Amino acid sequence: MKKFFTAFAILGILLTGCGNSAQNKTAAISQTDAEQPYSEDIFAMDTFMTITAYGDGNEAAVKESVSEIERLDALLSISSETGDIKALNQSKGASVEISEETANLIKRAIDIGEKTDGNFNCTVLPLMELWGFTTQVYQVPTENEISEVLAKINPDNIKMEENKAVLADGVSLDLGGIAKGYASSRIMEVFQENGVVSGMVSLGGNVHTIGTKPDGKPWRIAIQDPFNLEEVTAVVEVDDKAVITSGGYQRFFEQDGKTYHHIIDPATGYPAQSGLASCTIIAKDGTLADGLSTALFVMGVEKASEFWKTHTYDFDAVFITENNEVYITEGIADDFAMQDDTADYTIIFN
Ligand code: AMP
Ligand code: MG
Repeated sequence: MKKFFTAFAILGILLTGCGNSAQNKTAAISQTDAEQPYSEDIFAMDTFMTITAYGDGNEAAVKESVSEIERLDALLSISSETGDIKALNQSKGASVEISEETANLIKRAIDIGEKTDGNFNCTVLPLMELWGFTTQVYQVPTENEISEVLAKINPDNIKMEENKAVLADGVSLDLGGIAKGYASSRIMEVFQENGVVSGMVSLGGNVHTIGTKPDGKPWRIAIQDPFNLEEVTAVVEVDDKAVITSGGYQRFFEQDGKTYHHIIDPATGYPAQSGLASCTIIAKDGTLADGLSTALFVMGVEKASEFWKTHTYDFDAVFITENNEVYITEGIADDFAMQDDTADYTIIFN
């Protein structure tokens, strides 16, 4: 197994240190101006984000990316007064004109839901509201409250027309499970349009990279320890890929000694109890990686492994269970290392 030396800044899940520190210094000194990063931090989509690009056009690319994220937040957030999602959620069964972009993303969400056997469900919002995740006034609902709402949690209740959508009365949309991944994919497009060939965006637990680091080496992305957020469990090396994590630790509340997190099993209406503490997806397509991170977290490691083996989509995954066991899919094995290189992990083979 390869050993990685990890000098990491805890906010950035991205590890900027690479290999032996003496080599690092040499690389830093020989960097040209063109390899200097330009970076901006913003708070959008309920999360802190850092956008970094290297080389010619980097500043323009990052600035345009910031505007793009703000635009997408306004378009897709459940609380944005001017956005398509809010308009749909207030429509009470009426037909609503939406942008082609929103329509495409809803179609994508429906499709990922179908392919993942309903474990990804973009109509989960009434449950998020019931549990208090939208207002932060948390509560454990009664069985009755859950079963009443469950009837509305079904993407079949969405009808897509050419530039319009209709939600059955009482049904509401929540693209929170894929919006960040979509945004990160859009930023990679903005980078490309600006001629940037090396850069990355970090949005909460999600990282998306274009190309390699300026020195030609892969990006090293840390996977957070779900049981100790100051620590790192493992590192994956990637280029041109998104690395997106869903974890119960990212948003939760406690009541009567029990913990309730924000990833809901659409089959039960309760926070998913699949035995997973986190699920990280590595894929080229950020939207897909984000959708799958949520869906496979709900599935748990056994079902998720079977799903990976079907080759429905091209992706790899790292699963950390509630018992702190680590499972990885075969495709990432050469580019994966545990932070503690004496710690065990299991490779899932095809
Ligand atoms: P993520 O961090 O990508 O796993 O997304 C979690 C967010 O997706 C939650 O805060 C909800 O807004 C939404 N969500 C929760 N459960 C599901 C689910 N089963 N399918 C789709 N979206 C969900
Ligand atoms: Mg997701």
